[in-house]
Amino acid sequence: MKKYMHLKKRVLVTGGAGFLGSHLCEKLLDERIEVLCVDNFFTGAKQNIAHLLDNPYFELIRHDVTFPLYLEVDEIYNLACPASPIHYQNDPVQTTKTSVHGAINMLGLAKRLKIKILQASTSEVYGDPDIHPQPESYRGNVNCIGPRSCYDEGKRCAETLFFDYRRQHNLQIKVARIFNTYGPRMHPNDGRVVSNFILQALRNDPITVYGNGGQTRSFCFVDDLIEGLVRLMDTPPDVTGPINIGNPVEFTILELAEKVIELTGSESKIIFETLPEDDPMQRKPDISLAEKELNWRPKIQLEQGLLKTIEYFKKYQ
Ligand code: NAD
Ligand code: UDP
Repeated sequence: MKKYMHLKKRVLVTGGAGFLGSHLCEKLLDERIEVLCVDNFFTGAKQNIAHLLDNPYFELIRHDVTFPLYLEVDEIYNLACPASPIHYQNDPVQTTKTSVHGAINMLGLAKRLKIKILQASTSEVYGDPDIHPQPESYRGNVNCIGPRSCYDEGKRCAETLFFDYRRQHNLQIKVARIFNTYGPRMHPNDGRVVSNFILQALRNDPITVYGNGGQTRSFCFVDDLIEGLVRLMDTPPDVTGPINIGNPVEFTILELAEKVIELTGSESKIIFETLPEDDPMQRKPDISLAEKELNWRPKIQLEQGLLKTIEYFKKYQ
């Protein structure tokens, strides 16, 4: 209890019961910050924050951000949005609404309170990039009518809204472009590659590599990512982003499959399945801006992060 005695501020985390949100709530509480966690439990779970519910400085509010919200806080982290392709394609209209109406509602709240607001944007704003690695200045290659568009275009529009609120209302904004992040509390059924491969390996089931596995991703461990978000929130007003936050070490999906098999000691065999439509062929962040503005770079190597994640997923075996 003593640890929480001198509170610094009260912060709203939307999507706080999700994978990233729950780690962020935990980190803020550890820094003696009071946390209001807003979530509609579309993809998040009470389980992710159950260990925080007894903390008197943590408050959970069931609410859908597509509806207005009235409360008093000092800062907002806007993370509410399903993030895995399976989840965001399940109800694509709601995904766009969450990104766009959710952003408008949270920006409206920030405007009324005259407070800082951080947006969890995504590397998906670059689409299937033809520039590699991707710097923030790259404008992207996004299909606006494909199955990923509800998410990609929703997040792009949210970025537009953030910058218009800054220009029109002088709001203090921070936009983080998050690249593939993994770690404990990923949803076991969300179909993302790290959780899929680990569960398949732990069960000795075939590892489903889509396409020929030559497509690349760069995987950031959740603790590194959260540190980057908190540092971005704490930057001076002229630092708005967009700023890439991710791990620049790139792997092919086939290399990831082999690494997971090795680390779990699994007997799984790799099988190849159809590549989903509009699946980006390469992705790697240029993080020079984050290094300069946030003095941040990821510390946790893939192998180290995978071992922690494998340990977490053993309960779902
Ligand atoms: P997640 O699905 O685990 O968490 C999202 C949370 O938002 C869930 O708890 C969900 O219930 C909640 N939510 C969804 N719609 C809502 C609504 N309308 N109202 C209130 N709550 C709602 O996903 P995550 O991986 O933790 O992602 C968090 C944020 O980070 C998302 O905005 C996502 O786009 C962004 N992001 C994540 C990654 C990644 O690799 N994890 C990469 C890029 C961007
Ligand atoms: N992928 C795969 N097998 C799986 C799940 C995903 O080969 O069981 C591939 C997917 O096609 C993509 C990459 O892994 O190329 C990352 O997928 P994920 O859904 O994790 O995130 P994305 O970066 O595509 O949003």
